[in-house]
Amino acid sequence: MVVRVAPELRLLVGRRWRAETVEVGVSGTDTVGHVVESVGVPLTEVGGLRLDGRPVPPPTRASGDVVDVAARGRPQPAPTDPPRFLLDVHLGSLARRLRLLGLDAAWYPDGPDSDDDALVARATDERRVLLTQDRALLRRRALPDGALVRGTGVDDQADDVLDRFAPALAPWTRCVACGGALHPATADDVAAHLEPGTRRTYTDFSACAGCGRVYWRGAHAARLELVVARAREVVERRRRAGVSR
Ligand SMILES: [Zn+2]
Repeated sequence: MVVRVAPELRLLVGRRWRAETVEVGVSGTDTVGHVVESVGVPLTEVGGLRLDGRPVPPPTRASGDVVDVAARGRPQPAPTDPPRFLLDVHLGSLARRLRLLGLDAAWYPDGPDSDDDALVARATDERRVLLTQDRALLRRRALPDGALVRGTGVDDQADDVLDRFAPALAPWTRCVACGGALHPATADDVAAHLEPGTRRTYTDFSACAGCGRVYWRGAHAARLELVVARAREVVERRRRAGVSR
């Protein structure tokens, strides 16, 4: 059977298959979905499948000659609005970045909440989109919504998620450490958390309703403003472009 993968998905295909068409051996019980996964493309990344030109769902028996694999359209609707994300253990920097932008990004760095079963259960219960770079995790049948994050650094990864979902941003409203809501606070409110120098230099503070961490516009403000500006640009560009396919 020949698999033709959309150009946007070709980087996901194993190196030896990175051609326009991929020849795959198929056994009698294989489904079209299995065949597509076997060349390295998680079904979460697929916008539509055609078997010999006819649109088919992934569980269709793979009896035919050619499968065409389309990429998922962007922006992709999330199961909730605003979208809620759950990030796997390796994506801590991305979780902090998404929180800086005001997005609901759950992340459990260790312990029983961070193993694959727990992630799939939580994504299901809380209607979260699971963000990961682990394709095996995305192949879990029980997982309702997942997305393969492209990029090796946090900037590229954030661009990918923002371009994919084009979510409404609310920068500076969440704690980057825990994702809790920030509320305004005075220097007196937060005095116990501050060094004397900080207390003298700054007047506008916010505090996290979840973990109590205190924030103020300090030395990193200019860099973070750039991060926020870039994020807004990515979302705006995607929204202007509309659905890509
Ligand atoms: Zn917090």
